[in-house]
Amino acid sequence: MTAAPDHLPPLAGLESARLDWRQDDSGESAPHSSAFDDVYFSRHDGRAETEHVFLAANRLPERFREWQATRPFVIGETGFGTGLNMLCAWACFDAHAPADARLHLVSTEKFPLARDDLARALAAWPDLAERAAALVAQWPEPVAGVHRLWLDRRVTLDLHFGDTTERLALLDGAVDAWFLDGFAPSKNPEMWHDALFAAMAARSRPGATFATFTCAGVVKRGLRAAGFAWRKVPGFGRKREMLAGEIETPPADERRRATPWFTPPAARPARRVAVIGAGLAGTTVAAALARRGVAVTLIDREGPGAGASGNAQGALYVKLAADTNLQSRAYLAGLLHARRWLEALDPDQALWSPGGVLQLATGEREARRQARFLANHPLPASVVRGVDAGEAGRLAGLDLPHGGLDYPLAGWVRSDALCRRLAASDGVSAVRGEVRGLSPIAEDDENGGWRLTLSGDDGGDKNEEHTLEVDQVVIAAATASNGFDQTAALPLQPVRGQISRLTLPPGAPAPARVVCAGGYAMPPLNGQLTFGASFAPNDADATAREADHAFNLEELERTLPGYPAALAEAGADLSPAALGGRAAVRAASPDKSPYAGPVPDAEAWRHDYAAMAKDATRIPATPGRHHPGLWISAAHGSRGLSSAPLTAELIASRLCDEPLPLETPLADHLHPGRRVIRDLIRGQGR
Ligand code: SAM
Repeated sequence: MTAAPDHLPPLAGLESARLDWRQDDSGESAPHSSAFDDVYFSRHDGRAETEHVFLAANRLPERFREWQATRPFVIGETGFGTGLNMLCAWACFDAHAPADARLHLVSTEKFPLARDDLARALAAWPDLAERAAALVAQWPEPVAGVHRLWLDRRVTLDLHFGDTTERLALLDGAVDAWFLDGFAPSKNPEMWHDALFAAMAARSRPGATFATFTCAGVVKRGLRAAGFAWRKVPGFGRKREMLAGEIETPPADERRRATPWFTPPAARPARRVAVIGAGLAGTTVAAALARRGVAVTLIDREGPGAGASGNAQGALYVKLAADTNLQSRAYLAGLLHARRWLEALDPDQALWSPGGVLQLATGEREARRQARFLANHPLPASVVRGVDAGEAGRLAGLDLPHGGLDYPLAGWVRSDALCRRLAASDGVSAVRGEVRGLSPIAEDDENGGWRLTLSGDDGGDKNEEHTLEVDQVVIAAATASNGFDQTAALPLQPVRGQISRLTLPPGAPAPARVVCAGGYAMPPLNGQLTFGASFAPNDADATAREADHAFNLEELERTLPGYPAALAEAGADLSPAALGGRAAVRAASPDKSPYAGPVPDAEAWRHDYAAMAKDATRIPATPGRHHPGLWISAAHGSRGLSSAPLTAELIASRLCDEPLPLETPLADHLHPGRRVIRDLIRGQGR
């Protein structure tokens, strides 16, 4: 398959590993790759081999014991396979690392095992059973991209599905120790080439080590050429020798030559962080930071989920473009992430329902668009598939005249309750108040932190001001996010949206799945049917209107023809005056993608990149200047349930100096400064 138009590998499903189970030396059945004709591990001594080759040769027990940094120790691996190496690294970390240390695992895999094969392979190691269960439970769909898993409170695993060399080139993160695995070079020559070693070198921290089972000439030469020093050390079992070593000459970072403005700001202390705004954007960031041991003050004028995130029920859905683009990639990654994240946060599903979302094609044009989408994106049916009217009707439990796209992993969420739950996370202290001012504590000190001027704290006098000093600040205040001097250059548009709610009479029909087209309707919650939503850009009024209820009713008829009549027949009062509902104001960016990342110093950008206004090819080498320690998560529009959990991880990862959960081009796509540079290049910078 060729690269997609946005220069990333195709947004597609991956071929699963083809396995057979063969008896190893000791007569035990072990996973064997029929495609590569090689073993994943020996069931007899696979554990001991992993411990010798990858853990001991990277000196992990000692390095874990001595780990004092607040950032996590990062291991990078080529070829995740069954995950045995990574589970052993996790066990080794638990045995040796200090209690507050963290571990971040990054592994690539082009042919992911099917979930059942994974469980069967790992069943060989009873003492790893609990760790294996955490992995199997979160095992992602076989879709190209980054999949973040939370193995436990201290251990994160990013699975980069796709070809190793391609994935490492897209990785935004740096590694402390490499497990250079993969089938033997003789069996898998395509993987072991110079570009792989160069990509490893480019993603190595100073002093990064590596270990590999092989001593093949191509590996020795490639590692040396990429800047690694290696030595032969005794191999495991019958293998006489293997290689271990470290990065000696780290290569210059070339990645930002074409986009120096997106160079990430240097890491700085993050003991205390203030998050402004307690909607989905703010509460997800607060919880993500608190999970990393950061003390978070979450500030909101009205408390968690008061604004557009405060609907009792919100759809977890995406609408993907027919032709692949960065926005669609980010949203699909967000949906897959949100689903896994919700399962980990709330396994009992008190806060969400995974029932699926149907996106109906109510007209010819949309049907053609959906057909093009499916042709362009060979994704697993477990993620998205086309369904005809009969199948759509069966899934929705209603007679439907149209087919559409079905997203079985999507669903709906109790958005207001989710915000409250996250705001109550350990390590988050939620306060009521309005942030009236935001200023650096020390103008010249890069590590100086921020002073917030707050008013209206809980129970206090609304006009009484007090200050709060923190290391860093995340602004997540929807349309108010660009109300600070530092963020004024980031365009945000208010979009009013109103949902309608109806009490269902006994026996009234109701959708069994979220159904959407122009409007949407959700499965009933507590006997109430929620449908909507009106959409009015540049309207910042949050009072419910009968006219919007009337609009939502018309949209309901267009989406589900005949359904309003069936409701009326069952005894529902559909007059706009009889409907309940809620209006709120959402924030949107001009390109409709969220802002998630560091706040650019727009004035400095206009100065540093001024030459580009005349000639966009004259790219200065100057890295983008940012307001140090200031971040923003905003412009989630009406799709915050899909985007906010992932952008929260993006911001928390960058803030805490960890590998990112998204490929570099997607992190850049979400960068809050993208509009500043675009306008500058188009000569609209002033
Ligand atoms: N580390 C594994 C474990 O702990 O079970 C064993 C790795 S297995 C020997 C090699 C793995 O590399 C297989 O899962 C295979 O699918 C994967 N692989 C092979 N070529 C690859 C490539 N070009 N990109 C990514 N993964 C690849």
